[in-house]
Amino acid sequence: MATAAPWRCLWTLPLSATSPDLARAAPPNTRACANVPWVTVVAELTKLLGEDAVLAGDAPGAGRYMHDETETRSITGEADAVAMPATAEQVAQLVAWCYEHDVPMTPRGGGTGFAGGAVPMDSGVVVSLERLGGPARIEPEHWRAWVPAGAITADVRRRARENGLYYPPDPGAAESSMIGGNIATNAGGPHTFKYGVTGTWVTGLEVVLAPGELVTIGGVSRKDVGGYDLKSLLVGSEGTLGIVTGAWLKLMPAPEAALPVVGFYPDTATGTDAMTAVLMSGIVPAAVEFLDAGALRASLGALMSVTRGLPVDLPARTGFMLIAEADGSRREAQAGQHELEIAMEDSAVAVYAPTLPADIAALWRWRDGVSGAVTSRRGGKLSEDIVVPTERLADAVEFAVELGARHGIDACSWGHAGDGNLHATFMIDRTDPVQVGRAEYAAEELFKFAASVGGAITGEHGVGLVKNRQLSLQWPDRALALHEGIKNLLDPKGLLNPGKKLAR
Ligand SMILES: Cc1cc2nc3c(=O)[nH]c(=O)nc-3n(C[C@H](O)[C@H](O)[C@H](O)COP(=O)(O)OP(=O)(O)OC[C@H]3O[C@@H](n4cnc5c(N)ncnc54)[C@H](O)[C@@H]3O)c2cc1C
Repeated sequence: MATAAPWRCLWTLPLSATSPDLARAAPPNTRACANVPWVTVVAELTKLLGEDAVLAGDAPGAGRYMHDETETRSITGEADAVAMPATAEQVAQLVAWCYEHDVPMTPRGGGTGFAGGAVPMDSGVVVSLERLGGPARIEPEHWRAWVPAGAITADVRRRARENGLYYPPDPGAAESSMIGGNIATNAGGPHTFKYGVTGTWVTGLEVVLAPGELVTIGGVSRKDVGGYDLKSLLVGSEGTLGIVTGAWLKLMPAPEAALPVVGFYPDTATGTDAMTAVLMSGIVPAAVEFLDAGALRASLGALMSVTRGLPVDLPARTGFMLIAEADGSRREAQAGQHELEIAMEDSAVAVYAPTLPADIAALWRWRDGVSGAVTSRRGGKLSEDIVVPTERLADAVEFAVELGARHGIDACSWGHAGDGNLHATFMIDRTDPVQVGRAEYAAEELFKFAASVGGAITGEHGVGLVKNRQLSLQWPDRALALHEGIKNLLDPKGLLNPGKKLAR
């Protein structure tokens, strides 16, 4: 950075010393130390990519590349430079130069990640894929698309729709996240329940591997079982094994209609029983979402305007909310919505089954806004996306609230009930290091809980920085060693997103 000494030893972690994140950083023997002054990095990358494609790390406008959504828990990083290559070939040249000169790289999509994966913690270069954009190339007759890594997720979904097709993955920040970031995190969303996570829809990847080679793995074929599944290895690798520059995605004909049912329940136990009733109903819902009492309280104002058509006084007696959706042809969706209503109404305070497109769109818009509404309660939040077997969902929701009470911070959960995937959240003032620290410790207990009931430490956001080492709660030593062996094989110098996705 321009104000710093020209020589920089890496791993200057700017995290609060009270934060366990510090303790989760990479051990010294995995650290790389660059021997290139930042001015040289900027000058050489400018020669490669052009004047307007490189920013010094402290240049005006570079600040937004130093954090992702974990800024809401006070995590920021620093880098020598931000590079914005415009083609896959430029990404390969950039990686080759950095690899040759031992300069760490932090790939970056839309910066909407909740795991600190795109935060540069090792100085070096932020590789922003934003210029690898342009519209998805849809081939409607073959139900597929070629999509550059920098394409915005919601644009890909819209382009598919315009062609009568459907790209189901719908992560909550779809208007800002990029396909490359979705692939790197194997993102999910409400409709993952029926249709699967991002990786389900990827048939081929174009990716730059160390030490700077542009490689295509897979392609347009919908089936491919030869060889080890390298495509799936790269999907979800969070920029630690390669940089995705584009992908072939498969698509499907768009369902004609999607009709939700909202159930309001007095408490978590009743609400999760209703979820079991939904799963037993014979319908395969497209989505099964939930909010607990705390999440409802945080987003109450907006909810009241969405559910204005409700016949009862809500949500005063509501302690849990379930949203299930039926889709298919109009007739199938209508029949499914009716079946879901029957399954959900027994123990409900009320159910709401909108049929007007505007009401349905408002409902999902509100659902997408829950994360922001919860953040605004205290100005910050620490939210972990643990997964539990569905029969333990109620326990997990209650455990998060109890943890919050024990640590003196408000807690709530919402998320993808059908997948047993919670956003267990501690609402904090992010400027208060004591609250941040307490929430971090509470999160450690959450991970232990998830692992102890046979769940997973992350169902969506990935390990990134904030879940470093937690995988060891879940995997045996042999699997952890394989995880590390794969990293060493694909990135022997440890320059691709160093300090992230560490198994132990
Ligand atoms: C309001 C809100 C709601 C959200 N809801 C969901 C949800 O429902 N489901 C869900 O899964 N997530 C959700 N997220 C988290 C986030 O949107 C996803 O993790 C998303 O996939 C990140 O994409 P991005 O482009 O922003 O990636 P970034 O945040 O920029 O990066 C994420 C990780 O991917 C790596 N990366 C980025 N691009 C590339 C590339 N081209 N090649 C290699 N590595 C790369 C980065 O290094 C980093 O490790 C939500 C976030 C917000 C703010």
